[in-house]
Amino acid sequence: MAKKALMKAELKAEVSKQVEYHRSSLIELSLKIHANPELGFREEKALAWLTSYLKENGFQIEKGVGGLPTAFKAVYGNGKPVIALLAEYDALPEVGHACGHNIIAASTIGAGVASKCVSDNYGGTVAIFGTPAEELFRGKVTMLQAGVFDGVDAAMMVHPGVRNMAIIEALACIGLEIEFFGKAAHAAAHPEQGINALEAMLLAFNAVNSLRQHIKGKARVHGIITHGGEAANVVPAYSAAKLLVRAPDNAYLDELKQKVINCFNGASLATGARLDYKWEETSYAPMNNNLSLARLFSHNLESLGRKMEPFEAQFGFGSTDMGNVSQVIPAIHPTIAIASPDVPLHSTDFAQAAVSEAAHKGLLDAARALAMTVVDLLGEPETLSKVKEEFAK
Ligand SMILES: [Zn+2]
Ligand SMILES: [Zn+2]
Repeated sequence: MAKKALMKAELKAEVSKQVEYHRSSLIELSLKIHANPELGFREEKALAWLTSYLKENGFQIEKGVGGLPTAFKAVYGNGKPVIALLAEYDALPEVGHACGHNIIAASTIGAGVASKCVSDNYGGTVAIFGTPAEELFRGKVTMLQAGVFDGVDAAMMVHPGVRNMAIIEALACIGLEIEFFGKAAHAAAHPEQGINALEAMLLAFNAVNSLRQHIKGKARVHGIITHGGEAANVVPAYSAAKLLVRAPDNAYLDELKQKVINCFNGASLATGARLDYKWEETSYAPMNNNLSLARLFSHNLESLGRKMEPFEAQFGFGSTDMGNVSQVIPAIHPTIAIASPDVPLHSTDFAQAAVSEAAHKGLLDAARALAMTVVDLLGEPETLSKVKEEFAK
């Protein structure tokens, strides 16, 4: 075997050993974050635990990057290339860590500390980014806009799930807030004096239902009515709703946005209720999977005895702010199986699964495969060049 290849194999064995060395601390981090679920932008405990562990292990820490108090950057090594490992650690309202971000955090930290020897041997930087509020506020978008990821050559993270997948499909997604303003009146005595804001909302939702039959397969429009009136004997003067519009690409998202607003304008015209609407200022971008990077990761995870799903397999899709990162930096967002396929994400069952033995094994395997991929990227300039060439296309 050539010396270079031998060194790579030795380093892959070494990073795996390093993950093993940190095993109990990583599991403890995962359990602590899980037991203390913190919502987006309030992840103070997780921030403290993760950054102090990295500091103890020789990383240089900068908290509050991008103007977000619970975001951080932790760096080991120096110079180019810069390989980024991203951590998420926010929980969901009511259901806690039902998306298993405790596993993302622990696996990323594990990969980071295990990758120190890679930077020591080859040079280059291992940069860990703590990215808050993935679920509610898209922290990575704010960090991107602030230039926090400038200079990064490739970015990776692993999300827990029910299958081992190197690539995922994530849709572009934007939020919409709707308000209808009508006119109150006695619903029985003088209905003719009223303008019914609830009827406008119901009409619009029915129009969206009709629209939905004829939109592209992967597009989604869904929402809730958050205000529908005050009393049954008063014509509702006000109604409000929240919707999400999703599409496989940004161009179709724009097209769909107009079609959805047409539904609400139509209802406004029909009922006389005035429409006010607001699109969210930032949106999730679709995931641009870097296949060269995904192949490396897939090979490494497979070498740990996990069976990978084929790249072309499709099992539903959501949206993630890693999609926004993937539009500007070569990136992957693989999933690692920690539960059986019938356990839905964002459920209390998944929250329980996120602290199971399978979850611990998942976070350790994810840490190993990520660190082994860091070996590939820092070890051979031509490997990283391939990843970047694919991205440039
Ligand atoms: Zn989630
Ligand atoms: Zn998630």
